[in-house]
Amino acid sequence: PWGIDLEGVSVRYPNGTVGLDDVTLRIAAGEMVAIVGLSGSGKSTLIRTVNGLVPVTSGTVSVGRRRVDGARSAELRRLRGSIGMVFQGFNLAGRASVQSNVLVGRLSRTSTLRTLLGWYGADDRELAYRALHRVGMLEKLHHRADALSGGQQQRVAIARVLAQEPRVVLADEPVASLDPPTAHAVMQDLADINRDLGITVLVNLHVLDLARRYGVRLIGMRAGRVVYDGPAAQAGDDV
Ligand code: ADP
Ligand code: ADP
Repeated sequence: PWGIDLEGVSVRYPNGTVGLDDVTLRIAAGEMVAIVGLSGSGKSTLIRTVNGLVPVTSGTVSVGRRRVDGARSAELRRLRGSIGMVFQGFNLAGRASVQSNVLVGRLSRTSTLRTLLGWYGADDRELAYRALHRVGMLEKLHHRADALSGGQQQRVAIARVLAQEPRVVLADEPVASLDPPTAHAVMQDLADINRDLGITVLVNLHVLDLARRYGVRLIGMRAGRVVYDGPAAQAGDDV
C-alpha cells in the first residue's frame, strides 16, 4: 500500500473560496482514516487533492512518495490507476451488468489493446469474481447495475475498485445516501479491505458515530483546517 503526504497544502478555488487552509498530514501505508466535518469543511477538497483532481494553490501532495501536484498528465494517469475512488453516488453504468461494471476497474491497471476492446482475460475475470465475492455480490454477476439497491450498488462500486488492485482507496461520503444498516455494511466492507488486504483507506463521513466505529484514526476538519487528529475511539463529541 501507499502512504499519503500533504505538506502545507492550501487550495483556493477560482472564485476565491478557500477549500483547504495550510493542511499538513502524514498518513502511513496501510492506515484506515476517517475524515469528519460539516458540509463545506473541506473533506472532499482534501480527497480530491490526493488524486490530483483539485490543483493545490500552495504546498505539496505525495502519494506513495510520488508527487501529485505538478505531475504531468501521463504520470497522473498512472498514479490514478493505483488510487481507487468510491463516491456517494456509486457512479456505476446503470444499464450494464454488474460483471462489466467491475471489469472496467481493470482498464485503469492494464491498457493493452485487449482490454481496450473489452476482451477481458481469464485473469481479469478471476479478479472480478474474487472482488465481488469479497463484498457478497457474486450472485448478482449478471444483474443490471440499476436493478440493485443503493447499498448493493455501492458494494459493486467497491468491488470495481478492488479489481483495480489499488494501493490506496479514497471514499468521498460513500454512505451518505444509504440507510443506517446498509451504511454499516458498506463501512464494514471498507474496514475489511483495509484489515485483510492492507490497503490504505481514507474515507469522508459526516456522521461522527460511523467515523468512531470504523476509523482507526480520525481527522476532524473545520473551515479547511485540521482541528482534530487522533485515535477514533477516543474522539469526543466536540471534534
Ligand atoms: P458536499 O458537501 O457533499 O461536498 P457540496 O454541495 O459542497 O457537497 O458540493 C457539491 C459539488 O458542488 C462539488 O462538486 C463541489 O465541488 C461543488 N461546489 C461546492 N461549492 C461550490 C461553490 N461555491 N462553487 C462552485 N462549486 C461548488
Ligand atoms: P466538504 O466535502 O467537507 O463538504 P468541500 O471540500 O466540498 O467540503 O468544500 C470546502 C469549501 O470549498 C466549501 O466552502 C465549498 O463551498 C468550497 N468549494 C468546493 N468545491 C468548490 C468549487 N468547485 N468551486 C468553488 N468552491 C468550492
